[in-house]
Amino acid sequence: MRRPILAANWKMNNLTADAKKLCAGLKEELSGLRDRDIVVCPPSILISTVKDALAGTLIGFGAQNMYYKQSGAFTGELSPDMLVDAQCRYVIIGHSERRQLFAETDALVNLKVKAALEVGLTPIMCVGETKDERKAGKEKDIVGGQIRAGLKDVKFESPLGLVIAYEPIWAIGTGETATPQDAQDMHAYIRSVLTEIYGEETAGLMRIQYGGSVKPDNIDELMACEDIDGALVGGASLEAKSFARIVRFSA
Ligand code: PEP
Repeated sequence: MRRPILAANWKMNNLTADAKKLCAGLKEELSGLRDRDIVVCPPSILISTVKDALAGTLIGFGAQNMYYKQSGAFTGELSPDMLVDAQCRYVIIGHSERRQLFAETDALVNLKVKAALEVGLTPIMCVGETKDERKAGKEKDIVGGQIRAGLKDVKFESPLGLVIAYEPIWAIGTGETATPQDAQDMHAYIRSVLTEIYGEETAGLMRIQYGGSVKPDNIDELMACEDIDGALVGGASLEAKSFARIVRFSA
């Protein structure tokens, strides 16, 4: 079994006091867990607050985005080195909100994934189809295309150092979750694409998270699926007890 990875994406939510309270709750609920990776991705301005609040725990943290250049005239952006300097271990790349609202392309996602790996960050690369694409039966073409383009010429030392998050766009923040069967089908397909790129052994070790309205009451059935290795959680990660229950899934 692959080591599960459960990640919280706070998106553009929480102020300093909320972050401290939420981390204190997670610390209380989750500090003893050693058999899975737990990740918190706050807004970048709260990374140092989260770092201090989670000190002494095994809960990791990361950013929700970064640019691919190391320095220069890129107003408003953060570099890979800056995230390392802030002691991040993870970075979410190509979230559908970045793709849809900030026009991020597969080519940019590819540059960011490479830049993250270069400095030793673990990218969580997001892929997923829209409702219309699924209705038209194109979901595998879309997701397969995103994986191939996002991972073009991407090499890594450890298969654990790159995570894929399958997040059907129609399921994000809508309360509508993919059925475990639909999610499993797509995860198995993603693994087959990873097998084409990296070979069976490496693809078999890589972790693929599901994201899209994951909640305490649907995590167990999702995690029971063979190719679902974790979750990327938005809304339900904003409350310590509910994220802790997701992290403590029983499959
Ligand atoms: C996300 O932010 O990646 C996400 C899946 O959000 P939610 O869990 O709220 O659907």
